[in-house]
Amino acid sequence: MATESALRFGAQTDEMTSLLRIVNMVRTGEAMTRPEIGRVTGLGRGVVTQRVDYAIQLGYLEDGEFGPSSGGRAPRTLRFRGERGTIIICALGALHIHVGVAALDGDLIDQTHRKWDIARGPADTLAAAMEMIDGLLERTPADSVWGVAVGIPGPVDFDSGRPVAPPIMPGWNGFDIRRGFEQRYGAPVWVDNDVNLLAFGERARRRDEIPDLIYCKVGSGIGAGLISRGRIHRGVNGAAGDIGHVRVRDSDALCRCGKIGCLEAVAGGWALVRDAKIAIAEGAGGFLAARSAAGEDPTPEMIARAAENGDALAISLIQRAARDVGESIAALVNMFNPGTIIIGGAVAAAGELFLAEVRQRVYELSLPLATRDLHIVQSMDDPREPLRGGADMVREQLFDVTFPRWFAEGRPARIEVPVPA
Ligand SMILES: [Zn+2]
Repeated sequence: MATESALRFGAQTDEMTSLLRIVNMVRTGEAMTRPEIGRVTGLGRGVVTQRVDYAIQLGYLEDGEFGPSSGGRAPRTLRFRGERGTIIICALGALHIHVGVAALDGDLIDQTHRKWDIARGPADTLAAAMEMIDGLLERTPADSVWGVAVGIPGPVDFDSGRPVAPPIMPGWNGFDIRRGFEQRYGAPVWVDNDVNLLAFGERARRRDEIPDLIYCKVGSGIGAGLISRGRIHRGVNGAAGDIGHVRVRDSDALCRCGKIGCLEAVAGGWALVRDAKIAIAEGAGGFLAARSAAGEDPTPEMIARAAENGDALAISLIQRAARDVGESIAALVNMFNPGTIIIGGAVAAAGELFLAEVRQRVYELSLPLATRDLHIVQSMDDPREPLRGGADMVREQLFDVTFPRWFAEGRPARIEVPVPA
Protein backbone atom coordinates (compact mmCIF):
# COMPACT_ATOMS: atom_id res chain seq x y z
CA MET A 1 0.00 0.00 0.00
CA ALA A 2 2.84 2.35 0.85
CA THR A 3 4.32 1.66 -2.56
CA GLU A 4 1.06 2.44 -4.30
CA SER A 5 0.68 5.81 -2.64
CA ALA A 6 4.41 6.39 -3.11
CA LEU A 7 3.94 6.08 -6.85
CA ARG A 8 1.04 8.44 -6.68
CA PHE A 9 3.16 10.95 -4.84
CA GLY A 10 6.07 10.37 -7.17
CA ALA A 11 3.91 11.49 -10.04
CA GLN A 12 2.64 14.58 -8.29
CA THR A 13 5.70 16.57 -7.46
CA ASP A 14 3.91 19.47 -5.75
CA GLU A 15 2.37 17.08 -3.26
CA MET A 16 5.69 15.40 -2.68
CA THR A 17 7.50 18.72 -2.26
CA SER A 18 5.08 19.86 0.44
CA LEU A 19 5.28 16.46 2.10
CA LEU A 20 9.09 16.59 2.31
CA ARG A 21 8.84 20.14 3.57
CA ILE A 22 6.42 19.12 6.31
CA VAL A 23 8.64 16.26 7.52
CA ASN A 24 11.64 18.60 7.55
CA MET A 25 9.68 21.30 9.39
CA VAL A 26 8.85 18.91 12.19
CA ARG A 27 12.38 17.47 12.11
CA THR A 28 14.01 20.88 12.53
CA GLY A 29 11.37 22.27 14.89
CA GLU A 30 10.19 24.94 12.45
CA ALA A 31 6.57 23.84 12.99
CA MET A 32 5.39 21.21 15.46
CA THR A 33 1.60 21.03 15.17
CA ARG A 34 -0.85 20.67 12.26
CA PRO A 35 -2.19 24.24 12.67
CA GLU A 36 1.40 25.60 12.76
CA ILE A 37 2.23 23.69 9.59
CA GLY A 38 -0.85 25.20 7.98
CA ARG A 39 0.19 28.70 9.02
CA VAL A 40 3.77 28.36 7.80
CA THR A 41 3.02 26.61 4.50
CA GLY A 42 -0.29 28.28 3.68
CA LEU A 43 -1.80 24.83 2.96
CA GLY A 44 -5.43 24.17 3.90
CA ARG A 45 -6.39 22.10 6.93
CA GLY A 46 -7.51 19.09 4.91
CA VAL A 47 -4.32 19.03 2.87
CA VAL A 48 -2.11 19.31 5.96
CA THR A 49 -4.01 16.45 7.62
CA GLN A 50 -3.61 14.24 4.58
CA ARG A 51 0.13 14.97 4.21
CA VAL A 52 0.81 14.43 7.91
CA ASP A 53 -1.12 11.14 7.86
CA TYR A 54 1.00 9.93 4.99
CA ALA A 55 4.24 10.97 6.74
CA ILE A 56 3.06 9.03 9.81
CA GLN A 57 2.19 6.03 7.64
CA LEU A 58 5.71 6.04 6.16
CA GLY A 59 7.14 6.13 9.67
CA TYR A 60 8.77 9.58 9.64
CA LEU A 61 6.47 11.32 12.11
CA GLU A 62 4.33 10.40 15.07
CA ASP A 63 1.91 12.16 17.38
CA GLY A 64 3.46 13.51 20.55
CA GLU A 65 2.22 15.56 23.51
CA PHE A 66 -0.53 18.15 23.40
CA GLY A 67 0.97 21.55 22.63
CA PRO A 68 0.06 24.92 24.19
CA SER A 69 -3.50 25.99 23.46
CA SER A 70 -4.19 29.27 21.73
CA GLY A 71 -7.76 29.54 22.99
CA GLY A 72 -9.54 26.42 21.75
CA ARG A 73 -8.57 22.80 22.08
CA ALA A 74 -4.79 22.34 22.36
CA PRO A 75 -3.32 20.87 19.15
CA ARG A 76 -1.22 17.74 19.33
CA THR A 77 2.47 18.20 18.64
CA LEU A 78 4.18 16.03 16.06
CA ARG A 79 7.61 14.53 16.45
CA PHE A 80 10.19 13.26 13.99
CA ARG A 81 11.14 9.66 14.77
CA GLY A 82 14.90 10.20 14.97
CA GLU A 83 15.40 6.79 16.58
CA ARG A 84 14.40 4.96 13.39
CA GLY A 85 17.87 5.08 11.95
CA THR A 86 21.47 5.69 12.94
CA ILE A 87 24.41 7.44 11.37
CA ILE A 88 27.92 6.00 11.48
CA ILE A 89 30.85 8.39 11.55
CA CYS A 90 34.43 7.40 10.83
CA ALA A 91 36.87 10.28 11.34
CA LEU A 92 40.37 9.37 10.17
CA GLY A 93 43.24 11.60 11.28
CA ALA A 94 46.91 11.46 10.38
CA LEU A 95 47.63 9.50 13.56
CA HIS A 96 44.28 8.29 14.89
CA ILE A 97 40.94 6.71 14.06
CA HIS A 98 37.84 8.06 15.76
CA VAL A 99 34.47 6.39 15.16
CA GLY A 100 30.98 7.04 16.48
CA VAL A 101 27.30 6.25 16.14
CA ALA A 102 24.71 9.04 16.16
CA ALA A 103 20.92 9.23 16.06
CA LEU A 104 19.14 10.89 13.13
CA ASP A 105 18.74 14.05 15.22
CA GLY A 106 22.55 14.29 15.39
CA ASP A 107 22.99 13.22 19.03
CA LEU A 108 26.11 11.14 19.51
CA ILE A 109 25.17 7.77 21.05
CA ASP A 110 28.55 6.06 21.37
CA GLN A 111 32.15 6.52 20.24
CA THR A 112 35.66 5.16 20.50
CA HIS A 113 39.13 5.94 19.19
CA ARG A 114 42.62 4.54 18.82
CA LYS A 115 46.06 5.58 17.63
CA TRP A 116 46.74 4.66 14.02
CA ASP A 117 49.09 5.85 11.29
CA ILE A 118 47.09 6.62 8.15
CA ALA A 119 50.21 5.99 6.06
CA ARG A 120 49.53 2.27 6.60
CA GLY A 121 47.26 2.57 3.57
CA PRO A 122 43.55 2.30 2.83
CA ALA A 123 42.96 -1.47 3.11
CA ASP A 124 44.40 -1.90 6.64
CA THR A 125 43.09 1.44 7.86
CA LEU A 126 39.49 0.89 6.74
CA ALA A 127 39.52 -2.68 8.07
CA ALA A 128 40.65 -1.37 11.47
CA ALA A 129 38.00 1.37 11.41
CA MET A 130 35.22 -1.08 10.54
CA GLU A 131 36.27 -3.40 13.33
CA MET A 132 35.91 -0.47 15.74
CA ILE A 133 32.50 0.44 14.28
CA ASP A 134 31.31 -3.16 14.56
CA GLY A 135 32.32 -3.06 18.22
CA LEU A 136 30.14 0.03 18.74
CA LEU A 137 27.20 -1.57 16.92
CA GLU A 138 27.50 -4.60 19.19
CA ARG A 139 27.29 -2.34 22.24
CA THR A 140 24.51 -0.20 20.78
CA PRO A 141 22.56 -2.37 18.38
CA ALA A 142 21.16 -0.29 15.53
CA ASP A 143 18.22 -1.60 13.51
CA SER A 144 19.08 0.34 10.52
CA VAL A 145 22.04 2.44 9.40
CA TRP A 146 20.83 5.37 7.30
CA GLY A 147 24.14 6.90 6.34
CA VAL A 148 27.90 6.83 6.86
CA ALA A 149 30.25 9.82 7.13
CA VAL A 150 33.95 9.32 6.52
CA GLY A 151 36.44 12.13 7.17
CA ILE A 152 40.02 11.99 5.89
CA PRO A 153 42.99 14.33 6.42
CA GLY A 154 43.32 15.35 2.77
CA PRO A 155 41.38 16.68 -0.23
CA VAL A 156 38.38 14.63 -1.36
CA ASP A 157 36.36 14.64 -4.57
CA PHE A 158 33.03 14.75 -2.76
CA ASP A 159 30.93 13.44 -5.67
CA SER A 160 32.95 10.24 -6.03
CA GLY A 161 34.11 9.98 -2.41
CA ARG A 162 37.71 9.47 -3.50
CA PRO A 163 40.84 11.19 -2.10
CA VAL A 164 42.62 13.50 -4.53
CA ALA A 165 46.42 13.40 -4.25
CA PRO A 166 46.44 13.62 -0.44
CA PRO A 167 49.98 14.72 0.57
CA ILE A 168 50.26 12.63 3.76
CA MET A 169 48.28 9.54 2.71
CA PRO A 170 50.46 7.30 0.52
CA GLY A 171 48.39 4.71 -1.37
CA TRP A 172 45.07 6.56 -0.89
CA ASN A 173 44.96 8.60 -4.10
CA GLY A 174 41.73 7.76 -5.95
CA PHE A 175 40.87 4.90 -3.57
CA ASP A 176 37.15 3.96 -3.54
CA ILE A 177 36.46 4.57 0.15
CA ARG A 178 32.68 4.29 -0.25
CA ARG A 179 32.41 0.76 -1.56
CA GLY A 180 33.57 -1.13 1.53
CA PHE A 181 31.35 0.88 3.90
CA GLU A 182 28.34 0.53 1.58
CA GLN A 183 28.72 -3.20 1.39
CA ARG A 184 29.23 -3.61 5.12
CA TYR A 185 26.50 -1.28 6.39
CA GLY A 186 24.02 -1.19 3.50
CA ALA A 187 23.70 2.57 3.51
CA PRO A 188 24.83 5.54 1.45
CA VAL A 189 28.33 6.83 2.28
CA TRP A 190 29.73 10.34 2.04
CA VAL A 191 33.44 11.09 2.28
CA ASP A 192 34.70 14.55 3.18
CA ASN A 193 37.81 16.37 4.31
CA ASP A 194 38.39 16.19 8.09
CA VAL A 195 38.45 19.95 8.56
CA ASN A 196 35.13 20.22 6.72
CA LEU A 197 33.68 17.89 9.36
CA LEU A 198 34.98 20.25 12.05
CA ALA A 199 33.33 23.16 10.23
CA PHE A 200 30.06 21.18 10.11
CA GLY A 201 30.41 20.55 13.85
CA GLU A 202 30.63 24.32 14.43
CA ARG A 203 27.64 24.89 12.19
CA ALA A 204 25.62 22.34 14.17
CA ARG A 205 26.56 24.17 17.35
CA ARG A 206 25.25 27.43 15.84
CA ARG A 207 21.85 26.08 14.81
CA ASP A 208 20.09 29.41 15.22
CA GLU A 209 22.32 31.34 12.84
CA ILE A 210 23.17 31.03 9.17
CA PRO A 211 26.90 31.32 9.61
CA ASP A 212 29.68 32.57 7.39
CA LEU A 213 32.63 30.98 9.07
CA ILE A 214 36.09 29.58 8.56
CA TYR A 215 37.34 26.72 10.69
CA CYS A 216 41.12 26.70 10.64
CA LYS A 217 42.84 23.65 12.06
CA VAL A 218 46.46 24.05 13.06
CA GLY A 219 47.50 20.59 14.09
CA SER A 220 50.33 18.55 12.67
CA GLY A 221 49.09 19.83 9.31
CA ILE A 222 47.07 22.96 8.53
CA GLY A 223 43.74 23.21 6.71
CA ALA A 224 40.56 25.24 6.66
CA GLY A 225 36.86 24.50 6.20
CA LEU A 226 34.74 27.27 4.67
CA ILE A 227 31.05 27.74 5.41
CA SER A 228 29.21 30.37 3.39
CA ARG A 229 25.59 31.24 4.20
CA GLY A 230 25.37 27.99 6.15
CA ARG A 231 26.71 25.87 3.27
CA ILE A 232 30.11 24.23 3.04
CA HIS A 233 32.26 25.41 0.14
CA ARG A 234 34.28 22.48 -1.22
CA GLY A 235 35.38 23.90 -4.56
CA VAL A 236 35.42 22.16 -7.93
CA ASN A 237 37.95 19.50 -6.89
CA GLY A 238 37.53 19.45 -3.12
CA ALA A 239 40.66 21.51 -2.62
CA ALA A 240 38.98 24.61 -1.15
CA GLY A 241 40.46 25.67 2.17
CA ASP A 242 43.69 23.74 1.71
CA ILE A 243 45.74 26.67 3.02
CA GLY A 244 48.48 24.48 4.50
CA HIS A 245 50.13 24.22 1.11
CA VAL A 246 49.97 27.86 0.11
CA ARG A 247 53.36 29.48 -0.08
CA VAL A 248 54.45 31.90 2.64
CA ARG A 249 56.99 34.68 2.26
CA ASP A 250 60.72 34.17 2.85
CA SER A 251 60.67 30.44 3.38
CA ASP A 252 62.66 27.73 1.69
CA ALA A 253 61.50 24.97 4.04
CA LEU A 254 60.77 21.67 2.31
CA CYS A 255 57.17 20.55 2.82
CA ARG A 256 55.99 16.95 3.16
CA CYS A 257 53.95 17.51 -0.02
CA GLY A 258 57.25 17.92 -1.90
CA LYS A 259 56.95 21.66 -2.52
CA ILE A 260 59.03 24.42 -0.98
CA GLY A 261 57.84 27.13 1.43
CA CYS A 262 54.31 25.89 2.26
CA LEU A 263 52.58 27.41 5.30
CA GLU A 264 52.55 23.96 6.89
CA ALA A 265 56.33 23.64 6.49
CA VAL A 266 56.85 26.65 8.77
CA ALA A 267 53.77 26.68 11.04
CA GLY A 268 52.37 23.13 11.14
CA GLY A 269 52.90 20.96 14.21
CA TRP A 270 55.45 18.78 12.46
CA ALA A 271 57.47 21.85 11.46
CA LEU A 272 57.49 23.10 15.06
CA VAL A 273 58.73 19.71 16.23
CA ARG A 274 61.51 19.89 13.61
CA ASP A 275 62.49 23.40 14.69
CA ALA A 276 62.35 22.54 18.40
CA LYS A 277 64.78 19.66 17.80
CA ILE A 278 67.15 21.92 15.86
CA ALA A 279 67.06 24.58 18.60
CA ILE A 280 67.72 21.99 21.30
CA ALA A 281 70.61 20.53 19.30
CA GLU A 282 72.02 24.06 19.05
CA GLY A 283 71.93 24.40 22.82
CA ALA A 284 68.51 25.86 23.72
CA GLY A 285 67.49 25.14 27.34
CA GLY A 286 64.18 24.96 29.12
CA PHE A 287 61.32 22.49 29.44
CA LEU A 288 61.49 21.00 25.92
CA ALA A 289 65.25 20.54 26.18
CA ALA A 290 64.86 18.83 29.57
CA ARG A 291 62.17 16.45 28.23
CA SER A 292 64.36 15.76 25.24
CA ALA A 293 67.34 14.96 27.49
CA ALA A 294 65.06 12.53 29.34
CA GLY A 295 64.45 10.73 26.04
CA GLU A 296 61.05 12.23 25.20
CA ASP A 297 60.83 13.80 21.75
CA PRO A 298 58.76 16.99 21.48
CA THR A 299 55.23 16.75 20.01
CA PRO A 300 52.93 19.58 18.87
CA GLU A 301 50.84 19.03 22.04
CA MET A 302 53.92 19.22 24.26
CA ILE A 303 55.12 22.42 22.59
CA ALA A 304 51.68 24.06 23.00
CA ARG A 305 51.55 23.06 26.68
CA ALA A 306 55.13 24.23 27.32
CA ALA A 307 54.32 27.60 25.72
CA GLU A 308 51.30 28.03 27.97
CA ASN A 309 53.55 27.28 30.94
CA GLY A 310 56.01 29.98 29.92
CA ASP A 311 58.82 28.00 28.25
CA ALA A 312 60.77 30.53 26.17
CA LEU A 313 61.63 28.26 23.23
CA ALA A 314 58.05 26.96 22.97
CA ILE A 315 56.64 30.51 23.15
CA SER A 316 58.86 31.70 20.32
CA LEU A 317 57.91 28.69 18.16
CA ILE A 318 54.17 29.15 18.82
CA GLN A 319 54.24 32.90 18.23
CA ARG A 320 56.11 32.56 14.98
CA ALA A 321 53.66 29.90 13.79
CA ALA A 322 50.72 32.10 14.78
CA ARG A 323 52.11 35.04 12.81
CA ASP A 324 52.46 32.92 9.67
CA VAL A 325 48.99 31.41 10.13
CA GLY A 326 47.57 34.90 10.74
CA GLU A 327 49.07 36.14 7.51
CA SER A 328 47.47 33.34 5.49
CA ILE A 329 44.14 33.81 7.26
CA ALA A 330 44.24 37.55 6.50
CA ALA A 331 44.27 36.72 2.79
CA LEU A 332 41.21 34.49 3.29
CA VAL A 333 39.45 37.20 5.29
CA ASN A 334 39.88 39.75 2.52
CA MET A 335 38.52 37.32 -0.05
CA PHE A 336 35.81 35.53 1.93
CA ASN A 337 34.68 38.12 4.54
CA PRO A 338 33.63 35.60 7.23
CA GLY A 339 31.84 36.58 10.44
CA THR A 340 33.71 34.07 12.57
CA ILE A 341 37.05 32.32 12.41
CA ILE A 342 37.43 29.32 14.67
CA ILE A 343 40.96 28.16 15.34
CA GLY A 344 41.48 24.60 16.49
CA GLY A 345 44.12 21.87 16.48
CA ALA A 346 47.04 20.83 18.68
CA VAL A 347 49.22 23.90 17.99
CA ALA A 348 46.32 26.32 18.55
CA ALA A 349 45.77 24.60 21.91
CA ALA A 350 48.39 27.06 23.22
CA GLY A 351 45.30 29.27 23.58
CA GLU A 352 45.43 33.05 23.97
CA LEU A 353 49.15 33.11 23.21
CA PHE A 354 48.45 31.75 19.72
CA LEU A 355 45.14 33.53 19.22
CA ALA A 356 46.40 37.01 20.16
CA GLU A 357 49.16 36.78 17.57
CA VAL A 358 46.76 35.53 14.87
CA ARG A 359 44.30 38.34 15.65
CA GLN A 360 47.01 40.97 15.47
CA ARG A 361 48.24 39.78 12.06
CA VAL A 362 44.73 39.47 10.65
CA TYR A 363 43.70 42.98 11.75
CA GLU A 364 47.00 44.40 10.50
CA LEU A 365 46.77 42.85 7.06
CA SER A 366 43.03 42.79 6.32
CA LEU A 367 40.79 45.49 4.94
CA PRO A 368 38.99 47.36 7.75
CA LEU A 369 35.56 46.55 6.28
CA ALA A 370 36.35 42.83 6.21
CA THR A 371 37.25 42.79 9.91
CA ARG A 372 34.54 45.15 11.22
CA ASP A 373 32.29 42.31 12.44
CA LEU A 374 34.92 39.58 12.57
CA HIS A 375 35.32 37.33 15.61
CA ILE A 376 38.39 35.13 15.95
CA VAL A 377 37.83 32.49 18.59
CA GLN A 378 39.33 29.24 19.77
CA SER A 379 37.51 25.97 19.07
CA MET A 380 35.93 24.03 21.93
CA ASP A 381 38.72 21.51 21.31
CA ASP A 382 36.29 18.67 21.98
CA PRO A 383 37.58 15.45 20.41
CA ARG A 384 33.97 14.47 19.61
CA GLU A 385 33.65 17.47 17.27
CA PRO A 386 34.48 15.65 13.99
CA LEU A 387 31.92 12.99 14.92
CA ARG A 388 29.20 15.58 15.53
CA GLY A 389 30.23 17.30 12.30
CA GLY A 390 30.12 14.03 10.36
CA ALA A 391 26.60 13.33 11.64
CA ASP A 392 25.57 16.83 10.57
CA MET A 393 27.07 16.36 7.11
CA VAL A 394 25.13 13.10 6.63
CA ARG A 395 21.91 14.68 7.94
CA GLU A 396 22.29 17.42 5.35
CA GLN A 397 22.89 14.90 2.57
CA LEU A 398 19.95 12.75 3.68
CA PHE A 399 17.29 15.35 4.34
CA ASP A 400 18.29 18.41 2.29
CA VAL A 401 19.86 16.77 -0.76
CA THR A 402 18.76 13.18 -1.45
CA PHE A 403 15.43 13.01 0.44
CA PRO A 404 13.19 13.11 -2.68
CA ARG A 405 14.99 10.07 -4.10
CA TRP A 406 14.28 7.67 -1.24
CA PHE A 407 11.48 9.30 0.72
CA ALA A 408 8.78 6.95 -0.56
CA GLU A 409 10.81 3.91 0.57
CA GLY A 410 10.69 5.05 4.19
CA ARG A 411 14.50 4.88 4.53
CA PRO A 412 17.54 5.56 2.35
CA ALA A 413 18.05 3.04 -0.43
CA ARG A 414 20.28 0.22 0.66
CA ILE A 415 23.26 0.14 -1.63
CA GLU A 416 23.00 3.13 -3.81
CA VAL A 417 25.62 5.75 -4.34
CA PRO A 418 23.73 9.02 -4.52
CA VAL A 419 24.56 10.73 -7.78
CA PRO A 420 25.26 14.44 -7.61
CA ALA A 421 22.25 16.52 -8.56
ZN1 LIG B 1 53.08 21.55 1.15
